[in-house]
Amino acid sequence: MSDITIDTQLTITEKENIIAESSKLGKRFSERAAKYDREGTFPVENFEDLKESGFLGIMIPKAFGGMGADFLTYTKALEQISMGDASTGLTYNMHNIAVGSLAELQLDDIGGSRGRAMVNFRNWVYDQAVNHKKLFASASSEPGVGAHFSKLKTMYRRVDGGFLINGVKNWVSMAGHADYYVVAARSEQSNNDIPAISFLVVEKENPGTRIEYTWDVLGMRGTSTNTVYLEDCFIPTERLFLGSEGMALYKIAREPHWLVGGYNGVYLGICTAAFQFMINYLREKKIPGGGGSVADNERIQHKVGELYAALASARAIAYNAARLVAEQPGSPEANTAIHHAKYLVSELGPTLTSEAIRLCGGSTIHKQFPLERYYRDARCGGLMPATSDQCLFYMGKAAFGADLSKPSETYW
Ligand SMILES: Cc1cc2nc3c(=O)[nH]c(=O)nc-3n(C[C@H](O)[C@H](O)[C@H](O)COP(=O)(O)OP(=O)(O)OC[C@H]3O[C@@H](n4cnc5c(N)ncnc54)[C@H](O)[C@@H]3O)c2cc1C
Repeated sequence: MSDITIDTQLTITEKENIIAESSKLGKRFSERAAKYDREGTFPVENFEDLKESGFLGIMIPKAFGGMGADFLTYTKALEQISMGDASTGLTYNMHNIAVGSLAELQLDDIGGSRGRAMVNFRNWVYDQAVNHKKLFASASSEPGVGAHFSKLKTMYRRVDGGFLINGVKNWVSMAGHADYYVVAARSEQSNNDIPAISFLVVEKENPGTRIEYTWDVLGMRGTSTNTVYLEDCFIPTERLFLGSEGMALYKIAREPHWLVGGYNGVYLGICTAAFQFMINYLREKKIPGGGGSVADNERIQHKVGELYAALASARAIAYNAARLVAEQPGSPEANTAIHHAKYLVSELGPTLTSEAIRLCGGSTIHKQFPLERYYRDARCGGLMPATSDQCLFYMGKAAFGADLSKPSETYW
């Protein structure tokens, strides 16, 4: 019997190998996670490992030297990586938001100079990621604006040979560590209700960039999420993302899965790691005064059963959403499912980790255990796009039959 699946060119064995390799990486990362968390420093060694294992090309087709993962395989791989270190998973996902969105495109039929520009850009990104091991960061959110793309204040204008960008991005994960920043900016010429937003790729060494290091936060402390100032920052024409101007809002309204659902694997990974920790801890913990393991207690078993049901349901929803994205990207079903999953996974994290601390007891707030870090990291899920409230807004609107492929109908 053939093990070729219908949704990608990868065999089931190849997909399993990617997930198994991710699991190995995640285990290695788990040994370093406490140190990076305590210092609030970027997990440089983890990214060396990701590069060495070819993981910067996870989404890039095999024909271009990548691994050719589909969205479901990616979600599972990211879950494994984030079980070890969620800051690494989150920042690694930022890279894949840029690269993965390109890998889904069918560019072969687009002819003319536009088609050539798109193909050249895509091939350049693939080459940078696969052969030069370069990391791409996502620089969209702004002070007072968040990730509302239609309200962005960062501007760009055309000049001889390229573009000049001016603005401030105050949530750039991997700032100072990524090789490129994919910057979302509004055209100065844009005067429509739906502003012309484009992505422009800025090199780390660009003299028009300046980083302010202020990241000292509750959770996701190893993400180096800092402020990047763009001051008369020049980029050449060929660094306009996909050679396309002004289409970003339309694209993310039609296909929000990377910007929303990329995080699902990250926050699912935290939930899974917290659950596993809780089981191992309770199994070892003795009932005070003798009388066996706490795990034998019926009240504990009942509570663990509840948490198991919540985690298994969130995982099933997240995998199903990722499968829909792999099979029907941009369909209303896939888009709604990805918001549903983002909501469930993001809201489960703080509850599950809090309940796990409650069941395991006071010792587990000690930093010798990872549970208190899971608790802090998990709190960040619902703050990232789409925030939990935006997910509810999206699902509610979808239920009333709104056409959410129109930018004017979305929260962006
Ligand atoms: C760990 C971490 C790493 C990050 N890394 C990056 C990065 O690399 N690049 C990047 O660009 N950004 C990044 N971000 C920023 C992130 O993408 C968001 O922009 C940021 O968290 C928004 O914060 P805010 O509270 O200002 O958002 P807001 O959009 O102001 O949301 C605040 C709250 O307002 C309410 N709200 C807002 N809009 C709606 C709506 N339409 N419907 C219902 N309720 C609504 C919700 O309750 C929401 O939670 C990161 C964030 C975190 C936490």
